Amino acid sequence: MTDTTATPNPTEMTPAEIDARLADLWTAEDRARQTLEFYSRQATRRTGEPSAWDARAIAKAEADLLAARTEAEPYEAEFKARGGWLRYFLVNNSGGHVHRGMGCSTCYPSTQYQWLTDLADCDEAAMVAEYGEMACTVCFPAAPTMRGFGDGTSTLARYSAEAKAERANAKAERAAKKAAKALDPEDVEGGFTYAERIGDREFTRTISTIHAAKAWLTDAAERDAWGQGEHPAYPHDVRDALADVLAARLGTTAADELAAAAKRAAKRR
Ligand SMILES: [Zn+2]
Repeated sequence: MTDTTATPNPTEMTPAEIDARLADLWTAEDRARQTLEFYSRQATRRTGEPSAWDARAIAKAEADLLAARTEAEPYEAEFKARGGWLRYFLVNNSGGHVHRGMGCSTCYPSTQYQWLTDLADCDEAAMVAEYGEMACTVCFPAAPTMRGFGDGTSTLARYSAEAKAERANAKAERAAKKAAKALDPEDVEGGFTYAERIGDREFTRTISTIHAAKAWLTDAAERDAWGQGEHPAYPHDVRDALADVLAARLGTTAADELAAAAKRAAKRR
């Protein structure tokens, strides 16, 4: 008795199941054909006679090809027996469309297709409901009149709208985190700006975060503690202005911030 669970019966399979199997088998066939061609060409180029190695590879490719062909036959026969059904193919590139077949005039001979076997036997309306405006209007002239085409209701459109919303949320979250750390939540890249004089040149410095403002004040307090007067890189007018800005941001006073900076500087020593 034959084991019917090992070999599925095409007459009991859905079009999608049959096409999925055929897609695998036809891929296997293609691969075996290419291998066969490669080793046959290689053999003739060398000596005209295949080496033992080539001969083995050729024999294996022939056996693979025969096996795939033999297995595909009953599925192909079932497709014919049922009068065929609609098949859909997606062009494998960004902005690629869904076509009726792999010979659409809008495509090139080298175009790579993906066979959408899940859509086997479904009508155009179901395909458009899923793929929307990705439906090729040469293959499916009625597609633009169908629900899903360009109206944002297709599965793909809804999916990309969701992904877009998710990206926007993540972006807003990152911005909120940055604003929480910023000296000026309204202008996270800005904050406190002052001019640093080095020799006869002036450089604009910007302190953008609460952390950087505190670190600057600590550095300034440390220089002051050296007792050698005002350090040129940490002028007192800049220090006091920064302490004002920081205090306003944190709801403290400039005196609080300067005292805290002096404490942090003392700890460093
Ligand atoms: Zn097309």
